[in-house]
Amino acid sequence: MSDEALVHNYIVERGLAANLPQKIVIWDETLRDGEQTPGVAFTPEEKVSIATLLDDMGVPLMDVGIPVVSKEEARGVKLIANAGLDASIMAAARAVRKDVEACVECGVDEIAIFIACSDLHLKYKLNMTREQVKEAAVRETEYAKDHGLRVSFVTEDTFRADLDYVVDLYNACIQAGASRAVICDTVGVMTPIGIRWFVEQVTARLPRIQLSFHGHNDFGLAVANSLAAVEAGAEQGPVTGNGIGERAGNAALEEVAMALLVRRDVEPYHTEIHTEELYPASQMLIRLTGMIVQRNKAIVGRNAFAHEAGIHQDGVLKHAITYEIMSPEAVGMPSNHIVLGKHSGRHALAKLY
Ligand code: MN
Repeated sequence: MSDEALVHNYIVERGLAANLPQKIVIWDETLRDGEQTPGVAFTPEEKVSIATLLDDMGVPLMDVGIPVVSKEEARGVKLIANAGLDASIMAAARAVRKDVEACVECGVDEIAIFIACSDLHLKYKLNMTREQVKEAAVRETEYAKDHGLRVSFVTEDTFRADLDYVVDLYNACIQAGASRAVICDTVGVMTPIGIRWFVEQVTARLPRIQLSFHGHNDFGLAVANSLAAVEAGAEQGPVTGNGIGERAGNAALEEVAMALLVRRDVEPYHTEIHTEELYPASQMLIRLTGMIVQRNKAIVGRNAFAHEAGIHQDGVLKHAITYEIMSPEAVGMPSNHIVLGKHSGRHALAKLY
């Protein structure tokens, strides 16, 4: 049997290969949530470089900042909006008029309007009633829509909120012109099975609309949660390069993109990401953020394609597919490597010396 057939047996023949994969949109948040990483700040010019690389990579949608934050932040957003990129450019705003106006002034294509929806946040953070939150959300959605922006309406802290209220908010904002509802796990409290349940509940109670899930990695589950959301019918999950973002970060772009690509059998979705740009993008982010990724970071870490144990080394030297589910070249890494250590064997030693 050919190598291709051997891999095919493992990966593709599980019943789904016949279905055409559904296209999902990768929504990149590196320049917005990613920049909210403690200790990370990009200059407007750095933001343009990153946006250009993401655009070359085939990222179709990117949230590039919160223009109301400062003049420099607005300048970065404006530069990207005017850079002639293929991607749809989004900026973010609280459900506050000056925030939305700042986005309109930047000339972006889309806006993410966010507001908290849990009673916890309403009481301690916003000091607003549920009705007041709904009014603000609807008012700013209408305003943005009237000014030509495509609106994604984002509920912060969704999973500690009352489901009926969340659905009520989504319905109100859809009627006001929002084209996408974003279920945001702001505090990273969810697990995949809970996400699946929640997305199904919301889907059953809303008119047909694009649903999205924004996850955080507080349990190390952001990617798993994003995939669970997609499996339950959400169109995509915002991601960031190297998984940077608030606290423990967001779902990592490279992990979501490769899981969807390599496991097309159980994840029948396709993205238009040129995956060989993932490693160069990761390296660029490391340079610009000063944040080195851990060695065992999936996909782009130094050890992601390194082999130390003799049995593995022997297999990889005979044929890489024995221990590699994807090739380093597929993600733009120069090559795999054999590392000599306590568990290494004669085959690796002979190869290296
Ligand atoms: Mn976030």
